[in-house]
Amino acid sequence: MHVSATVAVSRGPLAPAAAQVLEQVRRAGAVRRDELVTATRLSPATVGRAVAQLVDAGLLRECLPKRRRPGVGRPGIPVEVDPDAYVTIGVHVGRRITTVALGDVAGHVVASDTVRRAVGADPDLTAASQRAAALLAALPGRVPLSAGVVGPWRDLGLSPEQVGAELHELTGLPVRAGDHVAAVAATEFLHRRQGAPGTTLYVYARDTIGFAVALDAGAQAEVSQVGSLGHFPSGSDVACWCGRTGCLEVTAGDDAVIRAARDAGLLGVARANRGVGPIGDLYSRVGEPAVLALVRRRARILGRVAASVRDIVAPDRVVLVGQAFTGCPPVLGDITEAMAEAGLLDEVPVSFTRFGSGIQAVAACTIALGPIYDDPLGVVSGVR
Ligand SMILES: [Zn+2]
Repeated sequence: MHVSATVAVSRGPLAPAAAQVLEQVRRAGAVRRDELVTATRLSPATVGRAVAQLVDAGLLRECLPKRRRPGVGRPGIPVEVDPDAYVTIGVHVGRRITTVALGDVAGHVVASDTVRRAVGADPDLTAASQRAAALLAALPGRVPLSAGVVGPWRDLGLSPEQVGAELHELTGLPVRAGDHVAAVAATEFLHRRQGAPGTTLYVYARDTIGFAVALDAGAQAEVSQVGSLGHFPSGSDVACWCGRTGCLEVTAGDDAVIRAARDAGLLGVARANRGVGPIGDLYSRVGEPAVLALVRRRARILGRVAASVRDIVAPDRVVLVGQAFTGCPPVLGDITEAMAEAGLLDEVPVSFTRFGSGIQAVAACTIALGPIYDDPLGVVSGVR
């Protein structure tokens, strides 16, 4: 099992005061200094200084309170993340496309574009950074602060260190590299509204199948333990290129389902060219019994494997992500049923998170936040 570096999503009391304050503001949206003191347990003087420095750096801005109360001075004015001064550059390397995105300091995507690439070819980071420059040119006044590069590195046979170093060379920015599944899990964690104490298991399935575990220990939270499930035994008789039989990806990945549909005569070339892609075409035709049977079979296999991973990790909750889980609402019940039947441990809450087609951009922008939230003032002084 390939284990990648962890993704910090909440850094805790050992982080610089400015980092703790910035994180708290991002989470809260708009927040007063006294609320920041309570949330961070830093002294009022430390919070006041950090807020002043972050406002001066252009990372935070004061926002007008909904109703101004008499007798309340500047400290009563809430602050929020300034979404306009800076951008991050997020690059997601997929099998067939490279996604280039610009994100704000709160992690929201403000612009994105894609670059096609031949399957198996090296990612063209020069073209990706040129695309980023073109996106930046359309947003005058914004300064890029950091970059992130995300991909299913193990499946692509690429080294994240090498790809990250190349992107740094091209952009001159601090770069963080992240695994695709970890980045998706970190994105879900970051953009979820309420906290989720304890351990959350994320199982991701689409082209790539894998899992990540987020541990929220109160002040600190990180996504750690990332594993590939591509060659997890599924019990099928499909031969895998690795030499074994029944590996999960060749049985239940998107390509495997498309191949099975073609073999069964369920997918014609003309249908595949309607603009939704072959998988979208299948999902739109689950009213046909043969299509439903195929998609349902895949759903049950994924559900069984998700149950096995849940039994291994023993998390407090499971979140299923990726279009192989979420793309076809009529089979969601098959997935949860298969999980319930196959699991050995007591059931824990299972939920689905749907990101839609923008997941590559937002995941890359989430990873790009790393250098900023590790040392906000240091990153800004690097570009000034
Ligand atoms: Zn295999």
